[in-house]
Amino acid sequence: MNPTIVIHPLAAQSLTKLRDRSTLPSEFRAMTKQLAYVLLLEATKDLPCRPVGIETPLERTTGLVLAKELVAIAVLRAGLGMLEAAVELLPNVSVGFAGMQRDETTAQPTEYYMKLPPLAGRRVLVLEPMLATGGTLSRTITAIKRHGGQEILVLCVVAAPQGVDRLQQDHPDVHIITAAIDERLDGSFYICPGLGDMGDRLYGTFPPVD
Ligand code: URA
Repeated sequence: MNPTIVIHPLAAQSLTKLRDRSTLPSEFRAMTKQLAYVLLLEATKDLPCRPVGIETPLERTTGLVLAKELVAIAVLRAGLGMLEAAVELLPNVSVGFAGMQRDETTAQPTEYYMKLPPLAGRRVLVLEPMLATGGTLSRTITAIKRHGGQEILVLCVVAAPQGVDRLQQDHPDVHIITAAIDERLDGSFYICPGLGDMGDRLYGTFPPVD
């Protein structure tokens, strides 16, 4: 199934807290991290493993270790909210950062920062909590592919139908994993009902709640 909508009581509860406008940044960050764990488990559940022989305190047995290297790419700045969960859950993960901004004259997303580890042969987990129009994410994925990324999954907290359509059109090989697909985008391209501006809510740069 693409997209995969993660159905899990913990994910639902975390998302409800994230949507609530009265949730303060410290709890918002904690809930983002908790939800990211659930998304990461989904994104890694089919990883290939290889057998290894080990000694328990009692006898020799065979266990499994991951047979695929992982890369997490945080899309700045909201993707940083999911990064701590990725490095905790996946201790050998390599981390990349992707920064895109809208060009004032062309209105097109352009790269302002791109620092990626080697991607060939690795599973690439793109941390982008809000999939709105999909324009910026599509450009980011093009850059990731140019850098050698082939097996790419996008982890979202909330996606809009338009963003999902755009990504599936531009990058049908990319798997989207999200906690929710919301109804629509508003005139300012915010996801509705959504949770507002993810970066502002993570880092306390939003106007005060009245
Ligand atoms: N980015 C956000 O942070 N929120 C939205 O609703 C859309 C894009």
